[in-house]
Amino acid sequence: MHFQVMAKPAGPSCNLRCSYCFYTEKESLYGGSGAYRMREEVLESFVRQYIACQPSPKVSFAWQGGEPTLLGLDYFRLIVSLQKKHANGKVIDNTIQTNGTLLDDAWCRFFRENNFLVGVSIDGPRKLHDRFRTRAAGTPTFDAVVSALTLLKGHGVSYNTLTVINSMNAEQSLAVYRFLKRVGDGHMQFIPAVERVPGRETELLGLALAMPPTADKPATGLPVTDWSVSAEQLAKFYITVFDEWLCNDVGTVFVQFFDVALGNWLGAGSGLCQFAPRCGMAGALEHNGDLYACDHYVYPEHKLGNIMETPLAELMGSLRQLDFGRAKQDSLPVCCRECEVLPACNGDCPKHRFVPTAAGEPEVSYLCSGYRQIFGHMAPYLGKMASLIRQGRPVPEIMQRMRLQNPSSVAVPGRNSPCSCGSGRKYKRCCGRE
Ligand code: SF4
Ligand code: SF4
Ligand code: SF4
Repeated sequence: MHFQVMAKPAGPSCNLRCSYCFYTEKESLYGGSGAYRMREEVLESFVRQYIACQPSPKVSFAWQGGEPTLLGLDYFRLIVSLQKKHANGKVIDNTIQTNGTLLDDAWCRFFRENNFLVGVSIDGPRKLHDRFRTRAAGTPTFDAVVSALTLLKGHGVSYNTLTVINSMNAEQSLAVYRFLKRVGDGHMQFIPAVERVPGRETELLGLALAMPPTADKPATGLPVTDWSVSAEQLAKFYITVFDEWLCNDVGTVFVQFFDVALGNWLGAGSGLCQFAPRCGMAGALEHNGDLYACDHYVYPEHKLGNIMETPLAELMGSLRQLDFGRAKQDSLPVCCRECEVLPACNGDCPKHRFVPTAAGEPEVSYLCSGYRQIFGHMAPYLGKMASLIRQGRPVPEIMQRMRLQNPSSVAVPGRNSPCSCGSGRKYKRCCGRE
């Protein structure tokens, strides 16, 4: 059975306190704030088991947090040495998701030498990034993150950017996209920030955000936080970025959301669990070996067990995890089952399903109306791109067709106009810099 595990060797420890973070609050499940660190015997057991139970000759590790680089470079050297020890002829690769603030030349050399793919979290130009991504004292992190991106680029490390779409940066889609094009390496990931304020149940656990709904524990009417993106904002964000990308950047800029939509359109399956028919194929491993159903369901009732007591493969293949995975599809409300964009959306992530539908029906995603607009808008173009692929023609040809159809849709501002990212500089000296 093929599955993934997001490993959190530093647990929920982090040197930042982003306003919308859904993970640092997990400290309260492990006895309050502290410097969590996966013990070597837990780490080795995970590495050994994970390699052994993957059926493919290539095994991909994903290191996340909290902030995994808090553990220091020697800890990651240990990880790589354990992977070599237990590889058993398999090819190992690694991805790490980081806030970037602790990266230096030594980290970058290590990533390059060991072929790590590094995901760096950045929310857009300075003002937008520093709105929510701050240290505990509220101090900004933009400069440290941009320095990390420059270092990664300079060292030739493979990296991508991860941007949380929230209520602020969603309003400045083009500024965010053009900025990411400038500082990134052409690979972008976006995730929507959607969380609700805590109810009594989560407050009792010491958690700052509401627990996501499940099929047997439907949502209560808690409001979303003020930094959550609305469905309307998300639609406007993606549609604007998609149109700009379609006219200018197909084949040179890779936006995970668009790739996933195209993959679904071609029937190749979704590379993103959010838009896959089922969940359950990506567990989350805490520092002490506790394994949870998913990164977004790290709560006592979704703990599958501990890999030091029960084998990892047994936990991921357990009836409980299979039920968790199936529930996504089984609990689709009728409006989803009859929806024309269901093959692309698949009802969205269950953690967003807290909006009431018809009486007696399960809840629908809070982002539903957004995804209807987004996938509805993208559909004709995805169809054209899919047709180019089937004919064996280069997908970037679509840009020529777009320009012929509608020359004014080429949304590049004049080189001498003020840049839309709000820097105050001319476009040619800012986001339009080659
Ligand atoms: S960097 Fe990541 S883990 Fe740390 S506070 Fe921000 S969102 Fe949370
Ligand atoms: S609950 Fe959401 S994040 Fe978790 S596996 Fe399902 S779709 Fe993915
Ligand atoms: S767009 Fe809305 S109705 Fe359609 S599948 Fe997605 S969540 Fe369900």
